[in-house]
Amino acid sequence: MKTTQIIMEISGFFNNYKDVIRISKSWAYTKNISPATCYKQDMETESEIDLSPRKVAYVKYLFERGGRLRTTDIAAQFHVDPSTITKTIAELAETGLVRHEPYRGIFLTDKGKRHAGYLVKRHRILSLMLTHYGLTHEQACEEAARFESLVSKDTIDRICVAMGHPRLGVCGEITHDDGCLEQEY
Ligand SMILES: [Zn+2]
Ligand SMILES: [Zn+2]
Repeated sequence: MKTTQIIMEISGFFNNYKDVIRISKSWAYTKNISPATCYKQDMETESEIDLSPRKVAYVKYLFERGGRLRTTDIAAQFHVDPSTITKTIAELAETGLVRHEPYRGIFLTDKGKRHAGYLVKRHRILSLMLTHYGLTHEQACEEAARFESLVSKDTIDRICVAMGHPRLGVCGEITHDDGCLEQEY
């Protein structure tokens, strides 16, 4: 595909959004950066809660199911041995997102609920974006789940702004908060 075609394709995607001109220009005139930047570890993500894709899946599941779950509920859903779940939940408890009370079950703390809301949004923004590149809804959800835990909140907010704060993703509603609504680019 020629560069002009790619740019037309991209601007077509953002056609309905007010910042179409700014975005297509910035993509067309991207300055070269040093290749060293591509290998740089992002030291700023330490302030964000870094979770593996599996932990992200558990937190989202707890959020979507609401209330308290048993180890066996999670084990059955993810086809994982309950002892593995217990270990992973103990690690999650250290982040303060989840609590596991004997005989009462596993549940999200308030911090966990807030973070889970963000994880769901991150998934929906990225999967919606992927549908533009020819992926079906199902493929987009699966693919986003592979890499979504590596994308920073700032990037999600920027994409949300560029997409015009979409209300509906391929697998549910998308919420907007101070992060994306107050961004000006
Ligand atoms: Zn999805
Ligand atoms: Zn938004």
